[in-house]
Amino acid sequence: MKERVFNFNPGPATLPVSVLEAAKEEMINYHGEGMSILEMSHRSKTFEGILNDAAASIKKVMGFSDNYLVLFLQGGATAQFAAVPLNLAVKGKPALYINTGSWAKKAISEAKKLGIEYKVIASSESDNFSHIPKSYEIDPNASYLHITSNNTIFGTQWQAYPKSGNVPLIADMSSDFYCRRFDPNLFGLIYAGAQKNAGPAGVTIVIIRNDLLPRSPENIPTILNYNVFAKDNSLYNTPNCFGIYIVGLVMKWILDQGGIDKVEEVNKKKAKLLYDTMDTTDFYLPTVQKDSRSMMNITFRLPSEELENKFLAEAKEAQLVGLKGHRSVGGVRASLYNAMPLKGVEALVDFMKKFEKKSR
Ligand SMILES: *Cc1c(COP(=O)(O)O)cnc(C)c1O
Repeated sequence: MKERVFNFNPGPATLPVSVLEAAKEEMINYHGEGMSILEMSHRSKTFEGILNDAAASIKKVMGFSDNYLVLFLQGGATAQFAAVPLNLAVKGKPALYINTGSWAKKAISEAKKLGIEYKVIASSESDNFSHIPKSYEIDPNASYLHITSNNTIFGTQWQAYPKSGNVPLIADMSSDFYCRRFDPNLFGLIYAGAQKNAGPAGVTIVIIRNDLLPRSPENIPTILNYNVFAKDNSLYNTPNCFGIYIVGLVMKWILDQGGIDKVEEVNKKKAKLLYDTMDTTDFYLPTVQKDSRSMMNITFRLPSEELENKFLAEAKEAQLVGLKGHRSVGGVRASLYNAMPLKGVEALVDFMKKFEKKSR
């Protein structure tokens, strides 16, 4: 059988091998229950224990207080683009958005469709989203401020989050969820599709500050109502049981690594290694400005599209897969999520140096 490769896919993405092994070990007969989690009632004590443990681990890793609640929802981050305005937009108080690329635009277009009052207070679109906007004004009367903490496609990442005062800060953290330490108290709500940095596809993590729950109007679709899912401990309907279980294992894996600071330390090392390699040559051209560089999705171009295609094909042969840029922008993208070992980035950098040498 083919060996496991270094998987730089943007999502679904690489997971820690130890998580996969634990899941395999427990697959057929979970802890002597005589069945797998895939077959178990979501109303069973065992499953509710798994869900509660996963939620508790999410809070523990980043130090979220009991002012916050973890929800496990479905529909991906895309469902949250609609859920956020449906639940949290307040009449007479505009919803604020910062446009840093494709995902932010999709979030904005849902707000628009729903007919809520909204304002895009900053955008880097005129610079092809090569940086995170630095100047914007936050209306203190706003319902919320929505940002995309990491742009998976363009390779930009907020280095310091906006200070939004009493305006709840909402972040789509799908592609950099728990890649580094942040102050949980800054946020009103965080959401992330799990399939990039936290688990498998099909489960969305939402962390919401309790005081925002009463905002959810009763007349919105139940499946998108935060307050309904909060009251039912994410068990209003059948959740993605297996996905929640894997997210729990990934959180335990972070704790086993020594916690979020250790994971961040390795992530910084990985990103630095790759950016340093590009900064010492004009063969690999980073597509984003230095002050907005993402640690998670690192995007770059080669001197020609022909060379890019050759690079991607030869990388694949060298067991370095998933490096093709998003279809909307082209180029190369290396996604260095938490589970990508330093060794994988060392192998990539080694390959890049050799490829450059023989292509010049
Ligand atoms: C992938 C991604 C999404 C879309 O997530 P789905 O789970 O596929 O809906 C949204 N936002 C960001 C930042 C992403 O990276």
